Amino acid sequence: MHLARFNPVRFAHLPTPLEPLPRLTEVLMTPGGGGPALWVKRDDCTGLAGGGNKTRKLEYLLGEALANDADTLLTQGAVQSNHVRQTVAAAVRFGLSCEVILEARTGSQAIDYTRSGNVLLDELMGAKIRHVPAGTDMTLALAQVAAEVAASGRRPYVIPGGGSNAIGALGYAECAMELVAQANDMGLEIDRIVTATGSAGTQAGLVAGLAVMGADIPVLGIGVRAPRDVQEANVFRLAVETATLLGHADRVTRDLVVADCDYVGAGYGIIDDAVIAALKLAARTDALLLDPVYTGKAMKGLIALSREGRFDGETVVFLHTGGAQGLFAYQSVMEGHLQ
Ligand SMILES: *Cc1c(COP(=O)(O)O)cnc(C)c1O
Repeated sequence: MHLARFNPVRFAHLPTPLEPLPRLTEVLMTPGGGGPALWVKRDDCTGLAGGGNKTRKLEYLLGEALANDADTLLTQGAVQSNHVRQTVAAAVRFGLSCEVILEARTGSQAIDYTRSGNVLLDELMGAKIRHVPAGTDMTLALAQVAAEVAASGRRPYVIPGGGSNAIGALGYAECAMELVAQANDMGLEIDRIVTATGSAGTQAGLVAGLAVMGADIPVLGIGVRAPRDVQEANVFRLAVETATLLGHADRVTRDLVVADCDYVGAGYGIIDDAVIAALKLAARTDALLLDPVYTGKAMKGLIALSREGRFDGETVVFLHTGGAQGLFAYQSVMEGHLQ
């Protein structure tokens, strides 16, 4: 898999560590000695203003933006979007302007949600922010801002929500390659990768990268928003597009795409007791700081599925996609649940 031909810009702290989770593994061990041996791939440590999974995608997206001589990055997300934070940071690093549209997607009016966490960091880094109500057609809104920016004589580069197009997903094809190389060096046999899946680029890139390499490691996406059929269709479409860029579209088959969307709860960005329990368990066993919207929900699923015996005897790598900056936006929701 030859990625240099896509001219990524390098700013992420790579490779990210691949570490065991001994204490969480012990807690999830069943009385008969079953349960998974858990490892974590630390993509929360990619280094760009707090890091997270969008940083790998942005290396490829910025490569294209700079090749196009763009002077302004445009993107969109929810108010507490980690993707928006990392995009703003990437713009700052390359001296580009950045305009973002934030959707009040969760409906939360809590002061910490609307003002702290990621959005505080977006403001700190000098982003120009437009706020729109829940349910806005964000793709259309982004196209309108792009037209305005272009009409004013600037050169916009539009990054879709989550950085999830085939160019962005190349960052996760690269992650697949990095992870397999680390596992080979350590002599670690990985049976499964578990990741949160939202705008689909992370899972699609992993699936495409593993398939193109012929690595045969199944990926389980745990959904945070859409129902299973929609999520799997989105991941599959994007995985095929990504593998097409890599010259091997035929290697991505529909059966490689598996999403479990049973842990979404009341909706995107809305947490429940099981998410809080997952955040606490990860924090109190291996000092792993997960986030409320993505990795907390993925861990809620991983814990439930482990307890059902679904991963017995497997070595499972949990991809930590970042987002702990968003914890501060949920202080009021978690208050009273942290004993
Ligand atoms: C965006 C995000 C995800 C989901 O990744 P997608 O590529 O959008 O599916 C997972 N975790 C965190 C912390 C994120 O910010």
